[in-house]
Amino acid sequence: MLNNTESTTQHDYLESYFMWKQYVKGNPGLFAGFQYPLTYGKWANLLRSRGHDICPICKSAGSYVFTFSGVDHEYKCICNVASWTYQQEQMTAKWKNAFEPTTWDKISTTTAFMQTGTQSADGPKIVAETKKTMESLQKFCTGTMRWHLLRGTFGCGKSTMLKMVGTELFPIATYVTAGNLKNFFREESANGDITELIEMFSKVRILLIDDLGMEYDGSGFTSKTLRNIIDNRMSFPGKFPTIATTNLSLAESDLMNGKNPDDLRAIISRFLDASYSDVHLLTQQDARRISYMNTKNDENGGVQ
Ligand SMILES: [Zn+2]
Repeated sequence: MLNNTESTTQHDYLESYFMWKQYVKGNPGLFAGFQYPLTYGKWANLLRSRGHDICPICKSAGSYVFTFSGVDHEYKCICNVASWTYQQEQMTAKWKNAFEPTTWDKISTTTAFMQTGTQSADGPKIVAETKKTMESLQKFCTGTMRWHLLRGTFGCGKSTMLKMVGTELFPIATYVTAGNLKNFFREESANGDITELIEMFSKVRILLIDDLGMEYDGSGFTSKTLRNIIDNRMSFPGKFPTIATTNLSLAESDLMNGKNPDDLRAIISRFLDASYSDVHLLTQQDARRISYMNTKNDENGGVQ
């Protein structure tokens, strides 16, 4: 017979973050005027402004039980999640890239696809795919933790969309460009030890990598290290969701010229596994590239 503890489903910090995100939206009360993104500072200010010395929800217990259809679900309390967001922020402070906060309405007014895409024969298809991509990324921001690969050429809006996710999920999502990864890896290896860096990028809960393929450093060191990180994350894809963008035509020529082909191909292939990842093709001219990558995977015996 099950006792109370065993029949309670326990949820981790990331799941709790999204649970409270939804709860805060639908339950004013204590949360009136409070909006995600959740940070420790905002939470502390809310409590102070309402005259609470300790968390009024869990009374400092740290967890809170929601009951759905008669089943108990134990989540980390929002006070605990707020502290966790601070830890995530501190952990990544040294390596992430700053970027201009970007809201979801930006894509329709500023991206090149709206100006040029709509005028070409492929226009309606491109616009439809862009909308579909935005919708799935918005779903990601409510806690649907799949991986995503956004493929397309300059101006298709892929980096903008990545920054939209980074803005909405600040500070728990870590945004970094592949070009900057190269610099971080080089600096750390010059200091003699990249263990900490590999561990951080493997453990940060949501990783956003912009411009995959630009990490080539002459020796292939960055690609090899990044492959190691991606493989660590892939061991638990739902726990460590990862979104990347790539300019495929560039990547193709790099692969063809023999630049770190195995590692980059392996990294990309992790995003082609439909069981946990979605691929979005934002410009039509890249269609041949997808088939090239798939062919390569088949030649390598396929990647599960
Ligand atoms: Zn609490």
